[in-house]
Amino acid sequence: MTERKQRVAVLGSTGSIGVNTLDVLERHPDRFSVFALSGHSRIDLLFTQCLAHQPQFVVATDSGASKQLQSRLAAAGSPTQVLPGHEALDEVAAHPEVDVVMAAIVGSAGLSSCIAAARAGKRLLLANKEALVVGGSFFMDAVRVGNATLLPIDSEHSAIFQSLPTDRALWPTVVDKIILTASGGPFRSRDPATLFEVTPAQACAHPNWSMGRKISVDSATMMNKALEVIEAKFLFGLDASRIEVIIHPQSVVHSMVQFVDHSVVAQLGVPDMRGPIAYGLSWPQRIASGTQALDFSAMAGLSFETFDSGLHRTRFPGLRLAWDALAAKPGTTAVLNAANEIAVAAFLEGRIRFDQIHAVNQATLEGFTFTSPVSLPDILALDEGARAHAQQLMQGLSR
Ligand code: NAD
Ligand code: MG
Repeated sequence: MTERKQRVAVLGSTGSIGVNTLDVLERHPDRFSVFALSGHSRIDLLFTQCLAHQPQFVVATDSGASKQLQSRLAAAGSPTQVLPGHEALDEVAAHPEVDVVMAAIVGSAGLSSCIAAARAGKRLLLANKEALVVGGSFFMDAVRVGNATLLPIDSEHSAIFQSLPTDRALWPTVVDKIILTASGGPFRSRDPATLFEVTPAQACAHPNWSMGRKISVDSATMMNKALEVIEAKFLFGLDASRIEVIIHPQSVVHSMVQFVDHSVVAQLGVPDMRGPIAYGLSWPQRIASGTQALDFSAMAGLSFETFDSGLHRTRFPGLRLAWDALAAKPGTTAVLNAANEIAVAAFLEGRIRFDQIHAVNQATLEGFTFTSPVSLPDILALDEGARAHAQQLMQGLSR
């Protein structure tokens, strides 16, 4: 019997993960069809994607962009319907004809559509880590209540998921710790005293991965790893003390699980996001991803540095905020994420220095007072409030 095609909504299709997702989908036209796309800017690319994939819907979240896209698609005789605004993201994520939702929007802007997909019981492929860092246990509750299938796309979390036993009930008793690998980004060996002068272009020049600008800056500060520690805690339900970070500059070992017998299972591959994307799309099966095979004969060596060696704690002060935020009251991870989104945007726009990103994050965690959220609207309000607090803090900073 031939199975029917899985209908996929790619939210954030114009970004790095979105483009890689479409690349994998194009390799398997017999298995998947594109039901919906979304983009915020880069309307030329969104237009081209619509002509190539002929989705039923395209969501253009920026209102100016949506009108422009509508007239261009109409002129091209495209059958794709344009839906404007963020509410339309929730609509397509929960649409009865959608089987799979790729959550590839950057930042907390993607939270609402993730929750909509989770509540509607979709296969939810989560690249948008900020959504889980902000939504926390509410996000996981929505997955449970909606009976959704949540699959990690972040390469580290995909590696951990691939290394864990299939039976989730075993996780709490068999896992000793999760070891997240981190490349160390472009400033792994840089003198921490000179970090104040780095430019956005230098911060975005990642040695191993080609990614969007926000996650590239997060990789340079290692706030990306902090967000990933929080993501791992919620995804795998393990205590934060069982999550460790180790620097591995080659990005070949994508992460590891150490079991109670001290056996370690790791997942390896070339650094190419099409690997975890293909795994999320096909799990529990496997499909071709377009990723190159590892060439062990050409591998110069794999190295590891503990976070405690050298100057890493001085160089990357933000990493520790993950454990601080997880130890504090519920909602604190959302506050940390909000501050970081605001600070990174300001750094990319040249309004604050690179080292001030951490200053804003820490000061927001210390100075912003709030009541723990008890609902999704509470979380969205908390996100807003923490952003406003961080914005205000930045006005007192001198460059
Ligand atoms: P990107 O900046 O390349 O793309 C982001 C996408 O989100 C674009 O389609 C953009 O139009 C859309 N978008 C931006 N702001 C929006 C808003 N306010 N409302 C609606 N849509 C908006 O980012 P990326 O590198 O593809 O990363 C996407 C997500 O995946 C992030 O959460 C990132 O942390 C995560 N991730 C990325 C990689 C990677 O290799 N790029 C790896 C692991 C995890
Ligand atoms: Mg990652």
